[in-house]
Amino acid sequence: MAYQSLYRKYRPQKFSDVAGQDAITRALGNQVRSDKLAHAYLFTGTRGTGKTTVAKIFAKAVNCENIQSDGSPCCECDMCRGIADGSLMNVIEIDAASNNGVDNVRTIIEEIAYSPQKGRKKVYIIDEVHMLSGGAFNALLKTLEEPPEYALFILATTEAGKVPITILSRCQRYDFRRMTVDTLVTRMQKVLSSEEQSADDKALSFIARQADGSMRDALSLLDQCIAFNLGEPLTYDRTLEILGAVDTSVFASMMEAIAGGDLKSAVKILDDIVMKGREIQAFVADFISYMRNLLLISADGSTGADIADVLGVSSDTYDRMKLIAGKFEAETMMRFIRIFSELSSEIRFSSQKKVLTEIAIVRLLHPEMQDDAASTRQRLAILERKIDRLEREGVRVTETTEPAKKMPLPEALPGDVQMVCDNWGRIVRDSKDIVRGILMEAKPSLDGNKLVIVCKDEISAGSLKANADDLAAVFEREVKKKLDFEIYGPGRGEDPDTKFPDLESMINYDEIKISEE
Ligand SMILES: [Zn+2]
Repeated sequence: MAYQSLYRKYRPQKFSDVAGQDAITRALGNQVRSDKLAHAYLFTGTRGTGKTTVAKIFAKAVNCENIQSDGSPCCECDMCRGIADGSLMNVIEIDAASNNGVDNVRTIIEEIAYSPQKGRKKVYIIDEVHMLSGGAFNALLKTLEEPPEYALFILATTEAGKVPITILSRCQRYDFRRMTVDTLVTRMQKVLSSEEQSADDKALSFIARQADGSMRDALSLLDQCIAFNLGEPLTYDRTLEILGAVDTSVFASMMEAIAGGDLKSAVKILDDIVMKGREIQAFVADFISYMRNLLLISADGSTGADIADVLGVSSDTYDRMKLIAGKFEAETMMRFIRIFSELSSEIRFSSQKKVLTEIAIVRLLHPEMQDDAASTRQRLAILERKIDRLEREGVRVTETTEPAKKMPLPEALPGDVQMVCDNWGRIVRDSKDIVRGILMEAKPSLDGNKLVIVCKDEISAGSLKANADDLAAVFEREVKKKLDFEIYGPGRGEDPDTKFPDLESMINYDEIKISEE
């Protein structure tokens, strides 16, 4: 038999097996037993919280011929078996992420006119329902307004906010909560004992924290660990190694290096992590939660034992964290978390994860390089004070209305630059992720005869340089040859138009509008 993932193999078949959603499974079980069913349900919650699993159990239960005392399906009668092996068409699952058009919904609606040949209910499970198009939602709404007696809809979504209110108002809504670390650990222990495997508690709670409330993630991480560990008991150290994760002592050293303004050591620590083959993406995510814990510790007035428990760290680790937390202002720590949160989404699809992480570390160490509102306000206040003092000393400070001299437009653009201007919209659209984000705020220009990409600021330029290979590839695809180009980011208060000609009027902006994903 082909290998089956733990998540599928141990997918609950009864309400009582579903972990962490007791209130929901009890409510649904009661409805099945008392036969008081609504026509439409909305299951919402983050991924891996059991929406689809509960939907499948519920769909079976409303058709089961031998309902259990908690409202669960028996899994043995003809109906249960027929639904499980797909020979009965009473349960229809639709993934709205790939079938989101009006036609898909129309097919359902035409089909819904026929009552089920066997059993009581026809159940439609529409997964990721927020992905339906506007037309599809309208078509669905018509059916939800007057559904046949035997129809039951279960709409599942991670983003209830994107489902039209007209649909929401016709559904009974259930919010699936994230799983706690305890729930995940208990479930993993059960699975392990069925698999005749064993693991340290510390290893399991580490996996549970990595899974961030998702049962699916917890079990697939556990899967990975078991597969690599070949029957040996799973230890904490081995888990870190397999998952490419980093021990908290590394984060402590990193924070100490940052506190000491020691860029060299901080970058060296990052180097070591990469050399050991650890995942940068995971390192960044873990570092964010480490900094968040530091913030909690510094905000906590208690003696520490309680919060050490909450954070799931040993007392030694706690003492070191407390010491580190004392070296930073809360505001500084929040700025660090912000910088790393941005980094976390930037590096997701980038091939230059390490470079971008280094840039982020530099930003942690050099607040003056940043251009956010708080530091701008501070710089403005300093300027105003200076002007006040000058005026008190009798110096007249007047506004200058004369604009800075701009670079004149060239009469003819070099071919490469012309081509880039003509196709700017498509170039922006065809680039990916971070490069696209930066290009949307950048413009092509000229330095002599060379193409210059003028970015919004130095930081954007730095990030774009880190992804220069990706940009070169986009250019090459567009103009069908290798292009020589430079990347430039103006410093604070610098107007790039005085340095490079402003080619704005020649740029083709037609296709730049990119729909948000
Ligand atoms: Zn049954």
